[in-house]
Amino acid sequence: MKKLTGKVAIVTGSDSGIGQATAIAFAQEGADVVIVYHTDSEGAAKTMEEVQQAGQKGLVLQADVSEEQGVQQLFEQALKEFGTIDILVNNAGVSGGSTKVADMDTESFDKTIRTNLYGPFFGCRAFVKHRLQNGGKGKIINISSIHEEVVSPGTADYCASKGALRNFTRTLALEVAEQGINVNNIAPGMILTPMNQKAMDDPKEREEKEQKIPMKRAGKPAEIAHVAVFLASEDAAYVTGSTYAMDGGFMRLLGQGA
Ligand code: NAD
Repeated sequence: MKKLTGKVAIVTGSDSGIGQATAIAFAQEGADVVIVYHTDSEGAAKTMEEVQQAGQKGLVLQADVSEEQGVQQLFEQALKEFGTIDILVNNAGVSGGSTKVADMDTESFDKTIRTNLYGPFFGCRAFVKHRLQNGGKGKIINISSIHEEVVSPGTADYCASKGALRNFTRTLALEVAEQGINVNNIAPGMILTPMNQKAMDDPKEREEKEQKIPMKRAGKPAEIAHVAVFLASEDAAYVTGSTYAMDGGFMRLLGQGA
Protein backbone atom coordinates (compact mmCIF):
# COMPACT_ATOMS: atom_id res chain seq x y z
CA MET A 1 0.00 0.00 0.00
CA LYS A 2 1.48 3.35 -1.05
CA LYS A 3 1.56 6.05 1.61
CA LEU A 4 0.61 9.15 -0.41
CA THR A 5 -1.94 7.85 -2.92
CA GLY A 6 -4.25 10.60 -4.20
CA LYS A 7 -2.23 13.43 -2.65
CA VAL A 8 -0.79 16.48 -4.39
CA ALA A 9 2.51 17.91 -3.15
CA ILE A 10 4.44 21.08 -3.86
CA VAL A 11 8.19 20.66 -3.36
CA THR A 12 10.25 23.82 -3.77
CA GLY A 13 13.80 23.46 -5.06
CA SER A 14 12.99 20.04 -6.52
CA ASP A 15 15.34 20.45 -9.47
CA SER A 16 18.25 19.37 -7.27
CA GLY A 17 19.51 17.62 -4.13
CA ILE A 18 17.14 16.99 -1.23
CA GLY A 19 14.12 18.52 -3.01
CA GLN A 20 14.62 16.34 -6.09
CA ALA A 21 14.94 13.17 -4.00
CA THR A 22 11.82 14.16 -2.03
CA ALA A 23 9.72 14.85 -5.14
CA ILE A 24 10.71 11.45 -6.58
CA ALA A 25 10.06 9.60 -3.30
CA PHE A 26 6.62 11.27 -3.03
CA ALA A 27 5.75 10.14 -6.57
CA GLN A 28 6.92 6.60 -5.77
CA GLU A 29 4.46 6.69 -2.86
CA GLY A 30 1.60 7.71 -5.17
CA ALA A 31 1.56 11.53 -4.99
CA ASP A 32 1.33 13.94 -7.92
CA VAL A 33 4.05 16.54 -7.60
CA VAL A 34 4.51 20.22 -8.41
CA ILE A 35 8.21 20.49 -9.21
CA VAL A 36 9.46 24.00 -8.46
CA TYR A 37 12.79 25.24 -9.78
CA HIS A 38 14.52 28.59 -9.75
CA THR A 39 17.06 28.50 -12.62
CA ASP A 40 17.86 24.83 -13.36
CA SER A 41 15.15 23.81 -15.84
CA GLU A 42 17.16 20.72 -16.86
CA GLY A 43 17.24 19.48 -13.27
CA ALA A 44 13.48 20.03 -13.06
CA ALA A 45 12.97 18.09 -16.31
CA LYS A 46 14.97 15.18 -14.85
CA THR A 47 12.75 15.18 -11.75
CA MET A 48 9.68 15.25 -14.00
CA GLU A 49 10.95 12.22 -15.89
CA GLU A 50 11.31 10.25 -12.66
CA VAL A 51 7.91 11.36 -11.36
CA GLN A 52 6.32 10.13 -14.57
CA GLN A 53 8.30 6.90 -14.43
CA ALA A 54 6.75 6.33 -11.03
CA GLY A 55 3.37 6.59 -12.76
CA GLN A 56 2.39 9.99 -11.34
CA LYS A 57 1.58 13.41 -12.77
CA GLY A 58 4.09 16.21 -12.44
CA LEU A 59 3.89 19.93 -13.13
CA VAL A 60 7.10 21.90 -13.57
CA LEU A 61 6.90 25.54 -12.46
CA GLN A 62 9.55 28.24 -12.24
CA ALA A 63 9.47 30.52 -9.21
CA ASP A 64 11.72 32.64 -7.06
CA VAL A 65 10.53 31.77 -3.56
CA SER A 66 11.94 35.00 -2.16
CA GLU A 67 9.32 36.93 -4.18
CA GLU A 68 5.83 37.15 -2.68
CA GLN A 69 4.13 37.38 -6.05
CA GLY A 70 6.11 34.48 -7.48
CA VAL A 71 4.96 32.16 -4.69
CA GLN A 72 1.36 33.40 -5.03
CA GLN A 73 1.40 32.62 -8.76
CA LEU A 74 2.93 29.23 -8.06
CA PHE A 75 -0.03 28.30 -5.87
CA GLU A 76 -2.54 29.66 -8.39
CA GLN A 77 -0.99 27.61 -11.21
CA ALA A 78 -0.75 24.46 -9.07
CA LEU A 79 -4.39 24.77 -8.00
CA LYS A 80 -5.50 25.39 -11.58
CA GLU A 81 -3.82 22.13 -12.61
CA PHE A 82 -4.63 19.86 -9.66
CA GLY A 83 -7.53 21.55 -7.82
CA THR A 84 -5.97 20.83 -4.43
CA ILE A 85 -2.64 20.87 -2.61
CA ASP A 86 -2.28 18.48 0.32
CA ILE A 87 1.43 18.65 1.11
CA LEU A 88 3.95 21.50 1.03
CA VAL A 89 7.70 21.00 1.35
CA ASN A 90 9.58 24.28 1.76
CA ASN A 91 12.98 23.01 0.73
CA ALA A 92 14.47 25.74 -1.50
CA GLY A 93 17.35 27.47 0.20
CA VAL A 94 20.72 29.10 -0.22
CA SER A 95 23.78 28.51 1.93
CA GLY A 96 24.91 32.11 2.26
CA GLY A 97 28.56 33.05 2.11
CA SER A 98 31.34 32.77 4.65
CA THR A 99 31.59 36.38 5.75
CA LYS A 100 31.72 37.64 9.30
CA VAL A 101 28.99 40.07 10.35
CA ALA A 102 31.35 43.07 10.41
CA ASP A 103 31.97 42.61 6.68
CA MET A 104 28.59 41.28 5.58
CA ASP A 105 26.76 43.46 3.08
CA THR A 106 23.03 44.04 3.38
CA GLU A 107 22.33 42.51 -0.02
CA SER A 108 23.82 39.12 0.93
CA PHE A 109 22.05 39.06 4.29
CA ASP A 110 18.80 40.00 2.58
CA LYS A 111 19.12 37.27 -0.07
CA THR A 112 19.66 34.51 2.51
CA ILE A 113 16.83 35.66 4.77
CA ARG A 114 14.42 36.25 1.90
CA THR A 115 15.05 32.84 0.36
CA ASN A 116 15.32 30.72 3.53
CA LEU A 117 12.73 32.47 5.71
CA TYR A 118 10.40 34.67 3.65
CA GLY A 119 10.16 31.85 1.06
CA PRO A 120 8.71 29.36 3.58
CA PHE A 121 6.55 32.14 5.09
CA PHE A 122 4.98 32.96 1.69
CA GLY A 123 4.50 29.24 0.99
CA CYS A 124 3.04 28.37 4.40
CA ARG A 125 0.65 31.32 4.31
CA ALA A 126 -0.73 30.40 0.88
CA PHE A 127 -0.94 26.71 1.84
CA VAL A 128 -2.70 27.29 5.17
CA LYS A 129 -5.23 29.66 3.58
CA HIS A 130 -5.97 27.05 0.91
CA ARG A 131 -6.34 24.24 3.45
CA LEU A 132 -8.52 26.28 5.81
CA GLN A 133 -10.87 27.12 2.94
CA ASN A 134 -11.10 23.41 2.20
CA GLY A 135 -11.84 21.85 5.56
CA GLY A 136 -8.35 21.91 7.06
CA LYS A 137 -5.93 18.93 7.11
CA GLY A 138 -2.64 18.91 5.25
CA LYS A 139 1.09 18.58 5.85
CA ILE A 140 3.85 21.14 5.88
CA ILE A 141 7.51 20.11 6.04
CA ASN A 142 10.09 22.88 6.30
CA ILE A 143 13.70 21.97 5.59
CA SER A 144 15.85 23.86 8.06
CA SER A 145 19.34 22.67 9.02
CA ILE A 146 21.43 21.67 12.03
CA HIS A 147 22.36 25.35 11.81
CA GLU A 148 18.98 26.16 13.34
CA GLU A 149 21.00 25.39 16.48
CA VAL A 150 24.67 24.86 15.66
CA VAL A 151 26.41 28.20 14.98
CA SER A 152 29.76 28.97 13.43
CA PRO A 153 31.57 32.22 12.60
CA GLY A 154 30.90 33.51 9.10
CA THR A 155 27.44 31.99 8.80
CA ALA A 156 25.25 34.45 10.73
CA ASP A 157 22.86 34.97 7.82
CA TYR A 158 22.32 31.23 7.27
CA CYS A 159 22.12 30.37 10.99
CA ALA A 160 19.68 33.24 11.61
CA SER A 161 17.46 32.13 8.72
CA LYS A 162 17.34 28.49 9.85
CA GLY A 163 16.92 29.29 13.55
CA ALA A 164 14.02 31.55 12.67
CA LEU A 165 12.52 28.90 10.40
CA ARG A 166 12.51 26.42 13.27
CA ASN A 167 10.55 28.75 15.55
CA PHE A 168 8.30 29.82 12.68
CA THR A 169 7.49 26.12 12.13
CA ARG A 170 6.75 25.51 15.79
CA THR A 171 4.54 28.60 16.09
CA LEU A 172 2.55 27.77 12.98
CA ALA A 173 2.10 24.19 14.25
CA LEU A 174 0.21 25.56 17.26
CA GLU A 175 -1.88 27.92 15.13
CA VAL A 176 -3.26 25.15 12.91
CA ALA A 177 -3.11 22.04 15.11
CA GLU A 178 -6.86 22.03 15.74
CA GLN A 179 -7.55 22.13 12.02
CA GLY A 180 -5.49 18.96 11.49
CA ILE A 181 -2.61 20.61 9.64
CA ASN A 182 0.69 19.03 10.68
CA VAL A 183 3.71 21.36 10.56
CA ASN A 184 7.16 19.90 11.14
CA ASN A 185 10.72 20.52 10.11
CA ILE A 186 13.67 18.40 9.13
CA ALA A 187 17.12 19.63 10.17
CA PRO A 188 19.67 17.94 7.91
CA GLY A 189 23.36 17.74 8.74
CA MET A 190 25.94 17.22 5.99
CA ILE A 191 24.11 15.85 2.95
CA LEU A 192 25.75 15.06 -0.39
CA THR A 193 24.13 17.65 -2.67
CA PRO A 194 25.44 20.57 -4.75
CA MET A 195 25.34 22.62 -1.54
CA ASN A 196 28.32 20.50 -0.42
CA GLN A 197 29.98 20.42 -3.85
CA LYS A 198 33.36 21.50 -2.50
CA ALA A 199 33.53 18.57 -0.09
CA MET A 200 32.22 16.20 -2.76
CA ASP A 201 35.00 17.28 -5.13
CA ASP A 202 37.77 17.28 -2.54
CA PRO A 203 38.20 13.90 -0.78
CA LYS A 204 40.42 15.43 1.93
CA GLU A 205 37.85 18.07 2.86
CA ARG A 206 35.06 15.48 2.78
CA GLU A 207 37.03 13.09 5.02
CA GLU A 208 37.75 15.89 7.50
CA LYS A 209 34.10 16.86 7.70
CA GLU A 210 32.85 13.28 7.89
CA GLN A 211 35.22 12.44 10.74
CA LYS A 212 33.40 15.04 12.86
CA ILE A 213 30.08 13.20 12.40
CA PRO A 214 29.38 10.39 14.94
CA MET A 215 28.34 8.06 12.08
CA LYS A 216 31.52 9.04 10.19
CA ARG A 217 29.70 9.71 6.96
CA ALA A 218 27.61 12.32 5.19
CA GLY A 219 23.92 11.64 4.49
CA LYS A 220 22.27 11.02 1.13
CA PRO A 221 19.34 13.06 -0.23
CA ALA A 222 17.20 9.91 -0.39
CA GLU A 223 17.64 9.41 3.36
CA ILE A 224 16.06 12.82 3.99
CA ALA A 225 13.32 11.98 1.49
CA HIS A 226 12.31 8.85 3.43
CA VAL A 227 11.58 10.91 6.54
CA ALA A 228 9.78 13.53 4.44
CA VAL A 229 7.51 10.74 3.15
CA PHE A 230 6.80 9.67 6.74
CA LEU A 231 5.97 13.24 7.81
CA ALA A 232 3.75 13.74 4.74
CA SER A 233 1.84 10.52 5.41
CA GLU A 234 -0.87 9.52 7.85
CA ASP A 235 1.77 7.52 9.76
CA ALA A 236 2.77 10.91 11.21
CA ALA A 237 -0.80 12.05 11.94
CA TYR A 238 0.00 12.81 15.61
CA VAL A 239 3.33 14.53 14.93
CA THR A 240 3.33 18.32 14.83
CA GLY A 241 5.71 21.10 15.87
CA SER A 242 8.59 18.61 15.83
CA THR A 243 12.10 18.87 14.47
CA TYR A 244 13.67 15.78 12.93
CA ALA A 245 17.45 16.12 13.10
CA MET A 246 18.97 13.97 10.34
CA ASP A 247 22.65 14.41 10.90
CA GLY A 248 24.30 11.10 11.78
CA GLY A 249 24.24 12.19 15.43
CA PHE A 250 26.06 15.49 14.91
CA MET A 251 23.72 17.62 17.02
CA ARG A 252 24.30 15.38 20.04
CA LEU A 253 27.85 16.74 20.05
CA LEU A 254 26.55 20.23 20.91
CA GLY A 255 28.73 21.49 23.70
CA GLN A 256 31.37 18.86 22.86
CA GLY A 257 32.85 20.52 19.79
CA ALA A 258 29.92 20.63 17.32
P1 NAD B 1 20.80 22.26 -3.56
O1 NAD B 1 21.71 23.38 -3.87
O2 NAD B 1 20.89 21.00 -4.34
O3 NAD B 1 19.30 22.75 -3.60
C1 NAD B 1 18.88 24.05 -3.28
C2 NAD B 1 17.58 24.27 -4.01
O4 NAD B 1 17.07 25.54 -3.66
C3 NAD B 1 17.77 24.27 -5.53
O5 NAD B 1 16.80 23.44 -6.09
C4 NAD B 1 17.52 25.72 -5.93
O6 NAD B 1 16.89 25.83 -7.18
C5 NAD B 1 16.58 26.17 -4.83
N1 NAD B 1 16.59 27.64 -4.68
C6 NAD B 1 17.61 28.43 -4.23
N2 NAD B 1 17.23 29.73 -4.25
C7 NAD B 1 15.93 29.76 -4.70
C8 NAD B 1 14.98 30.79 -4.93
N3 NAD B 1 15.25 32.07 -4.70
N4 NAD B 1 13.78 30.43 -5.41
C9 NAD B 1 13.46 29.13 -5.64
N5 NAD B 1 14.32 28.13 -5.45
C10 NAD B 1 15.54 28.43 -4.99
O7 NAD B 1 21.03 21.94 -2.02
P2 NAD B 1 20.25 20.99 -0.99
O8 NAD B 1 21.28 20.52 -0.06
O9 NAD B 1 19.38 20.03 -1.68
O10 NAD B 1 19.37 22.08 -0.22
C11 NAD B 1 18.00 21.92 0.05
C12 NAD B 1 17.67 22.47 1.42
O11 NAD B 1 18.34 21.70 2.41
C13 NAD B 1 18.10 23.93 1.65
O12 NAD B 1 17.09 24.62 2.34
C14 NAD B 1 19.33 23.78 2.54
O13 NAD B 1 19.55 24.91 3.35
C15 NAD B 1 18.97 22.56 3.33
N6 NAD B 1 20.12 21.89 3.94
C16 NAD B 1 21.06 21.26 3.18
C17 NAD B 1 22.13 20.65 3.80
C18 NAD B 1 23.22 19.92 3.04
O14 NAD B 1 24.22 19.53 3.66
N7 NAD B 1 23.11 19.71 1.76
C19 NAD B 1 22.25 20.67 5.18
C20 NAD B 1 21.27 21.33 5.93
C21 NAD B 1 20.21 21.92 5.29
